[in-house]
Amino acid sequence: MPGSGLEALDRATLIHPTLSGNTAERIVLTSGSGSRVRDTDGREYLDASAVLGVTQVGHGRAELARVAAEQMARLEYFHTWGTISNDRAVELAARLVGLSPEPLTRVYFTSGGAEGNEIALRMARLYHHRRGESARTWILSRRSAYHGVGYGSGGVTGFPAYHQGFGPSLPDVDFLTPPQPYRRELFAGSDVTDFCLAELRETIDRIGPERIAAMIGEPIMGAVGAAAPPADYWPRVAELLHSYGILLISDEVITGYGRTGHWFAADHFGVVPDIMVTAKGITSGYVPHGAVLTTEAVADEVVGDQGFPAGFTYSGHATACAVALANLDIIERENLLDNASTVGAYLGKRLAELSDLPIVGDVRQTGLMLGVELVADRGTREPLPGAAVAEALRERAGILLRANGNALIVNPPLIFTQEDADELVAGLRSVLARTRPDGRV
Ligand code: PLP
Repeated sequence: MPGSGLEALDRATLIHPTLSGNTAERIVLTSGSGSRVRDTDGREYLDASAVLGVTQVGHGRAELARVAAEQMARLEYFHTWGTISNDRAVELAARLVGLSPEPLTRVYFTSGGAEGNEIALRMARLYHHRRGESARTWILSRRSAYHGVGYGSGGVTGFPAYHQGFGPSLPDVDFLTPPQPYRRELFAGSDVTDFCLAELRETIDRIGPERIAAMIGEPIMGAVGAAAPPADYWPRVAELLHSYGILLISDEVITGYGRTGHWFAADHFGVVPDIMVTAKGITSGYVPHGAVLTTEAVADEVVGDQGFPAGFTYSGHATACAVALANLDIIERENLLDNASTVGAYLGKRLAELSDLPIVGDVRQTGLMLGVELVADRGTREPLPGAAVAEALRERAGILLRANGNALIVNPPLIFTQEDADELVAGLRSVLARTRPDGRV
């Protein structure tokens, strides 16, 4: 891209999340269709991460563009403050209630995942406050959890870089051990769920249940590469929390809207949270949007006689809601939940074949949420950084895939085909076979 004026303009003007320095080549994308996107040179890439686990229905859907244009021409936007509403927001709220686990009947709209988690944290604390339990301010989270970059959502994100260096972080937060079975060093030889439950019990005792508002968690941890807990983890955690009146906030920002082969991962684990946060796949990213769902019991308290003191300008944005409705139509009409299950299982099996390469430590798959952990040594499971692998995959094989630490994050669009999966695995094999034990390719 060096000859492109956009590349120079990008370098001069744009602050890119996570990019350090200012020398790296920029890839400026200009179009996309299906599972492919193209850059300013016309080079095509296979998008194996659905951007950031967002683009469920794939890129370039003219149908969604039409819906957005029609809605904008009719009523582009109106807020949902006070008694005001708009038809699309109401229709979408009802549709989401129909898709969600049964006790989740009330909806609050946001413009993304971090906003959703801010709202969820407010709801949880306010719920207890309005019930006369104002001491319940503590939030339990897990190390390596990702919940976004707001003050609250960043404060409960379990990567220190997200809340260090900015002065005081959100107070009253405690981080527990993430249930990542492959990271056996975390569990001192114990069963993963037993270890996590014992730690949760000790933490509740130490802080005092009367001071804890909620625990927040992703059903399957995305930032460490689709790390699913053992099947009994969420049911046992939920049971323990509820026995103390502590709310469970499920962050389904990545797992929602079909990624795991179900509408929500709650359906997969059979656990219903008190508050469920969603975003990303709700519109497949065509416009920013998100939705927080909660129970009648929580909604009654936080609305109550005084109202819920939290209103975003764009909450219930009519165009975003119209696009979300049309996006959900496509997911249903094209059976994308089934495709996530079948192509996900196929891709999982094909990725597992890469285990003949010594640096492939663990391959994980739930629907089309997959992760590969790279290791320098299979015996010690020492993490091997994946950044150079992702870069080589883009340069040499034309495949876009995100790496975070030693994890390759594989969240393709839900329209992914077996041929796309084969292309991804072939590209990965050629790059991983050349990767050295220090992560360089
Ligand atoms: N929660 C989870 C589980 C996520 O994966 C993300 C984004 O990757 C967020 C929250 C933050 O969402 P957003 O970037 O839309 O604010």
